[in-house]
Amino acid sequence: MVERLRAQGIRDEKVLAAMLAVPRHLFVDTALANQAYEDTALPIGLQQTISKPSVVARMLELMRGNRGDAMLQRVLEIGTGCGYQAAVLAHLARLVVSVERLKALHDKARELLAPWRADNVRLVYGDGMLGHPPNAPYDGIVAAAGGEAIPQAWLDQLAVGGRLVAPVVRGSTQVLVLVERNDRGFVRSEHEAVHFVPLKSGTT
Ligand code: SAH
Repeated sequence: MVERLRAQGIRDEKVLAAMLAVPRHLFVDTALANQAYEDTALPIGLQQTISKPSVVARMLELMRGNRGDAMLQRVLEIGTGCGYQAAVLAHLARLVVSVERLKALHDKARELLAPWRADNVRLVYGDGMLGHPPNAPYDGIVAAAGGEAIPQAWLDQLAVGGRLVAPVVRGSTQVLVLVERNDRGFVRSEHEAVHFVPLKSGTT
């Protein structure tokens, strides 16, 4: 899988190493394990999916910018799902805060991440549209669900020098939006089209 990501143009060696370190098959149903290393999203229950590896790699590469071998300090993930990307992020940041609005998936991620003793991952059950103020500011924010716009709370919780990557609805599709915060404000750029599950407010 990682060799394929490299061939597809992912250049960030730290992201590739992080993805090599996390066995994706452990985050999907055993019936789907034989497809775990294909470049495809897979169902994880409750109409949600584990994101496609190439999109995970691309988003993390965009979020890291040109940091070389450096670790990020604090990263916020919106949409834990089964916890796969959170496990990858654990190799890239000193603290990972990951918020999920569906209790059943939050619990599942907790269970799946337990054997890893990833003590730098904090799983939060809540509405990620609000971010997670207690650990802000974040030098990286990554959303795994696409909304109509980037919630103001995420911008407020982004550190100066930080980078946010999120799918945003654009007509009948979604695009990856990168927001970089500098001491003068926010710089926004749009990247490739993607297809994520919808960002929804509230918890269930
Ligand atoms: N990060 C996962 C992808 C999970 S799919 C991976 O590693 O593959 C996206 C998840 O976002 C779903 O579980 C969905 O329930 C969740 N989600 C959608 N809106 C949300 C919100 N407002 N707050 C938190 N989670 C949200």
